[in-house]
Amino acid sequence: MFEAFRVYGFGFEYPKGCVISFGKKSLRRRGYIVMELAEELRITVSWGDLESKLPQHANTEVHAKHSLSRLNKASDLKELSLVDTSTVLVNGHQATLTHFRVRSAYPILAKSRNRETRSLHIHCAESNRFFILEASSRVDSASADGASAFRRLQETFVCH
Ligand SMILES: [Zn+2]
Repeated sequence: MFEAFRVYGFGFEYPKGCVISFGKKSLRRRGYIVMELAEELRITVSWGDLESKLPQHANTEVHAKHSLSRLNKASDLKELSLVDTSTVLVNGHQATLTHFRVRSAYPILAKSRNRETRSLHIHCAESNRFFILEASSRVDSASADGASAFRRLQETFVCH
């Protein structure tokens, strides 16, 4: 079951039952939202000013690569393996889809050690914002269907 979420002129459908939290000081111009379904599934949507990103991130492909390399430098990361990357259409925009797996180094995080993440980088000139959509789920989890949550996110996302 999915239900509609809409705020600041963008929206999408998310799995019913998620706990939603806003990043502090999330404005129309920039911010983030986290949606969690227990430990199983985590959806993150972040956005920001497109113009200020454009000098270093001419397109979504470059932007996605930059996000991955930043993630690669995270201190708790043991291994990041790229599964696939492709170009998809989201709300009329050419968006970059990245699918990767992450293994964390700390045993204390055992619950979330092996995670599978799909992300979308979108540049929306109409609203002068970029969006990064991410759905992450445990690789070993039978109940969390990260793939279908992500597909729904991709299909229903509206940014302008
Ligand atoms: Zn748009």
